[in-house]
Parts: sequence; C-alpha cells; structure tokens
Amino acid sequence: MSMDTHIKHSFALASRYKAHYPQRCGEALDEALYSTRAYDAWRTLDPGRASPVFSRLAALPALTKRELRARGPQGFVPHGRDIAEGLAAHEIELVATSGATGDQVTNVWYQPWWNASEAASWQLNAHARAVASGAHCEAILTSPWCAGFPCEDGYLTMEQRTLGRFLYLSERSDPSSWTSELMNRMVEELNAFKPVVLEANPSFLARLSRHIVRRRLHVTSPGLIVLTYENPSVLHRRQISRAFDAPIASSYGATEAGYVFMECEAGRLHQVTTTCHVDFLPFAPEHGGPDVGRILVTIFGNPWRSLVRFDIGDVVRLDGHAPCSCGRREGLTLMSVEGRTVNLTLTPESRAVTQGAVDHALGSVTRLVEYQILQTDSSAYHLRFVAEGSASRAVANEASDALQTVYGSAAIITAEPVEAIAPDPPGKYCLSKKLEPIDPDVLLDDQFAPREP
Ligand SMILES: [Zn+2]
Repeated sequence: MSMDTHIKHSFALASRYKAHYPQRCGEALDEALYSTRAYDAWRTLDPGRASPVFSRLAALPALTKRELRARGPQGFVPHGRDIAEGLAAHEIELVATSGATGDQVTNVWYQPWWNASEAASWQLNAHARAVASGAHCEAILTSPWCAGFPCEDGYLTMEQRTLGRFLYLSERSDPSSWTSELMNRMVEELNAFKPVVLEANPSFLARLSRHIVRRRLHVTSPGLIVLTYENPSVLHRRQISRAFDAPIASSYGATEAGYVFMECEAGRLHQVTTTCHVDFLPFAPEHGGPDVGRILVTIFGNPWRSLVRFDIGDVVRLDGHAPCSCGRREGLTLMSVEGRTVNLTLTPESRAVTQGAVDHALGSVTRLVEYQILQTDSSAYHLRFVAEGSASRAVANEASDALQTVYGSAAIITAEPVEAIAPDPPGKYCLSKKLEPIDPDVLLDDQFAPREP
C-alpha cells in the first residue's frame, strides 16, 4: 500500500466560495474539536491549523446518526452551554426526528438558527426571493407526524390546524386512504387561505393534484410550491404541475442540519453556503462516480449545535461541468438529489443504481401514476404500480422495459398492479429499495472515503 492511499482528497477544493468561507469552515471545525465534547476523539486526527481547512475536514471521519444517538444532544452543544438552562429559558426545544426504523435522533432545536438557514435558502431561488418574506402565509401538506397536528381518527377544524401564519392541510398521514371529501376540503381551504407558499411532501401533493385534475376542481395557485420532506419523483412533479400554475422548487435539508440545498429557477440545486459546508464523497466509477456520491454536512453559526461532517444519508449527482444559467457560482451545485442510501439497489452485476436512475427511467412511462420497486434477490426486482384507468397491462410492459434498460438483460423483473401505494411510517414514500440493505461505504471511491473513527 502506498502512502497516497492514506491521503484523503477533498472535492471542496474544486468549488468556488466567497473569500471568508474557508475561515467559517475553520471556525466551525475548531469549535467542534476544541469546545464540543462529542468530538474529543477526533482531535488527534486533525492535521492541525497550519493545514488548509478542506484537507483538515477530509482527514476526519463521518458523523453518523448512531453517533448522534450515542452522545445525546448535550454532547453536541459547544462551549459548555447547558440544555436544561436553555429549555428553562425557552430559548431551545428538544425535537425528535421521526425515524421509523430505530434511527430516531433527538435534536436541540434553536428556532432563530433554523429561520436564518431557511431565509438563506430563499436567496437561491428568484421566486422564493420575490415572495417569501418570513411573514408570508404558508400552507403545508405533509405527514402530520413530521409537521402539524396528527389525528388519524376523526378530523380537526381549520382553526385547530392553524398555527400563526401556517395552515396544515392534513391531519391524516396516509394519502392512499384520503377520502374525496378530505381532498375537497384541502382545495376549499387553499382557495380561502390563499397561501403565498405551499410547502409540500411531493407524494402528498401529487395525490391531491390527481384529485384536482380528475374532478376538474378550481384551485388557487400559490406564488411558489416548495417540495421538501422527501425526494420528488418525476411523476410527482408532473402531476403537481398539471393541477397548479405555480413555479416549483425542491428544497433539501434535514432536521439535524437545516437547509442544505435549494433548487434555483433554472432547475439546479445550489448549496446554502451561508449556513453550511458540504463535503462530497464520490462513488467509485463502477457505481456512478465521480459525479454521483454521498454528502457530509458541516453547519455554521448555531450556538446550540456543533455538527461536522454529518452523514445525512443521501446520494446526489453533481453538476460541475457547466455553470448554472441562473448565474449562481458559489459552493456545490447539484443536478439532482438521487434519493437516500437506503433507496439504492444493485444490478445483477452488483453495480449501484440510485432511486433517481430508476425514477428517470420510469418517468417516461405513459399512464404510470405511482410505483415502488423492491429488489428481492441479486437479480430479481418486483415492481408494484398504479396505472391510470385500465392501462395495467400496457403500463406493466412499458415499465418492465424501462427497468430492463437500468438493470440490464440479466435482471428478472416482475410487475404487479395495485390500487394504491401507502407511505412508510411516519408518512414517507419509498420508491426503490433492496430487501437486504447495501453497505453504502463499500461504494465509495477510496481516495475520498472518510477514515474510520
Ligand atoms: Zn442555478
């Protein structure tokens, strides 16, 4: 093994940043290493302040959700601040992320930092910049277990689902069981409330949009539709744009890390450089690298949270080949968020396939409404799908052909028409998944892979 294999490279060196940006990264890193308990063991791995900050970051491990759980929220509070005192002073709250599979994390929630991160993201989209003031009316359509007021048995009044300038359109978390009456109510409330921004889980808004189009309902379009909570499918976006006459922007972030990327008016995702740094870890070429890879997020300026190289669990596709036509040049620019690492599947030859690649192929299947693909074996793939009208057989054939182009001729694809596809708890759709999960670490290009903690 040569010495070179020990030197981890950093993609950040190839990105453009404002002059003060490396210093902000350095401050975030120093605060973690020297003033935050959870990073004690990382200190000896730091090449030191004399090294460029991107090389220092690259020398460190990734911070996992497992580590967040093990250290607890207090472990990530810098400068000896005390959570109990912050709670007593009503400066912070504790918020548990709604993970369903035992990956639940408790986070310190400091609202002023969250608001600053969101406001910074609005600057990256001309429509958001024009309409979002921070005091605007906003309707939200997502699982009430993620945001809002859950009520799975009975219904809540509009007043009971209103909080300040926010209206939560649904108290029910499973769109596959929404009644026509419930969806009619959502449309009536949108027409009465006239939100400036409609923030939505894309699969939820797609379900409502199909209802609007099928019933030919009149709906007031907001100034901007922001898709968040889950990665939008090509199908979702198409269905939404048939029902609403509004620009659509995808906003990407996490409860743990705030707003990380925002889609601009030209359709690419720009890094929110005011409140975070992103390290990109490319996959090996056989798995889609160097343009496809994972990201680690480091946050800036949250007095209650020091987060460095947090593995947010998603796969992205870079767009570094040509500058975006919107004119924004700073930080990482993405072509797309490709889905979560748990949404990865493999070809029969064991090459990684992102949810985005599956979605891109199925996006062109006419009369396909919804789908979910499960890899059950090394070369077996089961597609469950909802087709428009009575087009099941044609859709099954067309979708199977599309999947064959992704997985190759050795793939055995079965297709099953279903009435509807329900989200996984707490209300997020899964478009693709392998029954036996893949270890995403083995897909990385070794030159960039984080070192072991
Ligand atoms: Zn752009």
